[in-house]
Amino acid sequence: MKQRRHRNARLLVVSVFLAGGCFLLPQDSKAQQQPSATCADWTNVQSWSGTITISGSGHSSDQHGNSSTTSESATITFKTSTTPGGPCDPFVVDTSEAFTWLEQASQVTDSVTIHDTVTSPCVGSDGGTYTQTTSYDVDNGTTTLNNAGLAIIFTSATSGGYGLGWSEYVDGLRISYSSTGCGTAPPTISNNVPWGPVGIILNTKSIDYFPNPVPLPSTISTLNCNSGGSTAGVSFRGASYLGASAADWTIGCNIVPAFAYDVLVSTIQDYPKWRPMGGADEKAVGNLLDLQARIVYKGTTQTAFGVNPDQWMFTLKDYSSEPGVALNWPPQDQLVSPTPPDLDFNLAVNNVLNPGIVIPPPGTTAQIPLNATNAGNLAFVQLTVESHDWGGWATLNVAATVAGQPPIQGHLTLPGLQNVTDILLPLRIPGSHIANSWKNGKVPLNTADSDDSEIPQGANNSNRGDGLTLYEEYRGFYVDCAPIPQSSNCFGSPSSVPPRAFMHVEGDPTKLDLFVVNDGEPDVLEGMKDFAAGTGIKVCCPTLRDDQINGQASRVVNFNHSQGAHEVDQHAIVIVKGKGAGPCTEHGPDQPKNITKIYYPPIANILDMAQREGGSARVAWATDKYPYSVAHELGHSVNVSHHGVTDSREPRYWTTPDGTSLIEINPDGTSTPIQAFLEDNSTTVTPSDLSISAGGKFKIYRGENGGKHSGDVFCFMRYNISQSYLPLADPNGNKRFFVPERERAGRRMTNMSVGTDTNDPNRTTPQPRYGNSDGVNHFGMCLSQICVNDRLTPMHVTPPDTNPCLGQSSGQTTP
Ligand SMILES: [Zn+2]
Ligand SMILES: [Zn+2]
Repeated sequence: MKQRRHRNARLLVVSVFLAGGCFLLPQDSKAQQQPSATCADWTNVQSWSGTITISGSGHSSDQHGNSSTTSESATITFKTSTTPGGPCDPFVVDTSEAFTWLEQASQVTDSVTIHDTVTSPCVGSDGGTYTQTTSYDVDNGTTTLNNAGLAIIFTSATSGGYGLGWSEYVDGLRISYSSTGCGTAPPTISNNVPWGPVGIILNTKSIDYFPNPVPLPSTISTLNCNSGGSTAGVSFRGASYLGASAADWTIGCNIVPAFAYDVLVSTIQDYPKWRPMGGADEKAVGNLLDLQARIVYKGTTQTAFGVNPDQWMFTLKDYSSEPGVALNWPPQDQLVSPTPPDLDFNLAVNNVLNPGIVIPPPGTTAQIPLNATNAGNLAFVQLTVESHDWGGWATLNVAATVAGQPPIQGHLTLPGLQNVTDILLPLRIPGSHIANSWKNGKVPLNTADSDDSEIPQGANNSNRGDGLTLYEEYRGFYVDCAPIPQSSNCFGSPSSVPPRAFMHVEGDPTKLDLFVVNDGEPDVLEGMKDFAAGTGIKVCCPTLRDDQINGQASRVVNFNHSQGAHEVDQHAIVIVKGKGAGPCTEHGPDQPKNITKIYYPPIANILDMAQREGGSARVAWATDKYPYSVAHELGHSVNVSHHGVTDSREPRYWTTPDGTSLIEINPDGTSTPIQAFLEDNSTTVTPSDLSISAGGKFKIYRGENGGKHSGDVFCFMRYNISQSYLPLADPNGNKRFFVPERERAGRRMTNMSVGTDTNDPNRTTPQPRYGNSDGVNHFGMCLSQICVNDRLTPMHVTPPDTNPCLGQSSGQTTP
């Protein structure tokens, strides 16, 4: 039986030695493009895992008749746990620096197959010369003395090689004997038997199976024991423990590095406050989000500057492609098709920072490969996201691939977001497309994008919302800036002729938003303000233009929509210049979608008529009333009715046949002799008080008790043109009360049916003029009637007027 050769360090301390100048780094093209991984790079590998395969075969014989064969193979699977210590010294003290990664027992498995024989001469009992053969056999044997490791040794900071070590023991080895004539012993089973090649004893404690270290690959990557050339694995001829004195050994490996790296993502702008913005058109840049990403040592924020990742990958997934840049811009006939992403990576911009960056259309992915330009500087990269839409969103993924390993997903480091690798742009609640920064201070963060629950000011008004979802109010609208440029919020449209500038306005999630285009006189704008102040409705905007509501025929303010929450096509009100002396709200009172137009005459027309009818006093009245009458018409455009219905829209005329008596001519042409008194109930009104002489006519409106003039006089929905009313005690008689000047205009919209001031039911001198509104039927409850939301079907206190404003062409209209 062959005596085992023992070695003095079976539990390996793996090391390697260098045969000076015997290996070169591979001269492939990649190595020429980028510097090799350095000692600092390699020692950043946290652990290694993989397999070592050993196979050996050989036959040997000598002149004494001894012969032996070796047939061994093994696969050792392991994962190292220790990390190499120590820095990559500048090689002052030693000529080389070795770093080892070791594993023992628990994470090593061996599978050893041996079929060796040793044959020697022997003398039989008959004195003859025979042979005896010892066979060593095991299939897929294991060992409890397992151990494996990797060592890398550097001769400079940038060059080195590696070797492997492992323990070579096997349990359950069957040792059997046979002989041609000598006696034999029974077979035995042995454990802890050494096998394999005899290692090179480097010194008293280190053993290595590699005659030379295998050159390291140029980048940190899987080690496969290829020392270059076409031969896979490391091959050498060496002695065998059990079998032939010289066998051919091949050692293969596939050992994968694991890294202790992390990728951190940050932004130059304050990410929690950032929201996307749009420009003048879909291709213009509204604003930027500058990204920074770095490879760090795991658990730290220290950038791993020595590491060269194979590539960086920036991906915008789940990105929006909302048409336009805001809900109402550009007009639909100017939209880009197909709709581009709202957030993207611009190639030209990002190529400046990252030469060689790959950004294929539509610009939602950016790959930064390692190349000659960026090598050595790729542990930290910057990239710019461009925003083209006020409502844009995307989910950003950042990943660095190091040494061919699975990508390391980048994540934020902000409190509460440390582990977020799906980085939401902008910062928002998952499932929502609205930036948290916008919601903050306006609505709770968990408010749904589809929310449209603004509550009108009027009590018991169930017509909630303004037809715009929360997302739409956030994405917002474009209106003109005038003049150009007006403020820092304005930005020009280079393609517009003549030059034009825009500004972005948002909806108010706490107020009803009503959109009004004033194509009439500038004086109307004051009334829009008074309507807003008097109703709590936010009115947009003095500079809203026809092309920002998709044209007067469409009047839709949120026509650019696709993926974002949308509930209804919400309509704007268009005010145009009327030809009559009074305004008219076509198809009012109703919600905005049914109000095709408000006609409003130029103030010059109104004041001219006032001058003719009542001189300077009437002009003063009309001047005061003008903005509130605009507000009154806008009230009809949000479904608000008058305070009553009984007043005639047509004027009466007081005339005198003789200069002393008065006759009232009714709208139907009938006439009645009347006696008119001032409200002191004693002073008679004469024709001369009305500045009429025989045959002359005084135009006068009469308000009825509970009619359009009734109720709260401070509400601008109340009529204010009447100058006469009937005595409550004798409504069918000939007595009239005369009010020398018309009623003052209400300044706001109110919500009460009880008469106030001159309508106060307790007024006694001489009586309440027009009394209470019919509260039972909701007259006077003006705020409660408001309906801005085009999705709803509101209750009408009075039905919408089905007659269009025909008088606007003939000039015969009344307020
Ligand atoms: Zn009212
Ligand atoms: Zn009206």
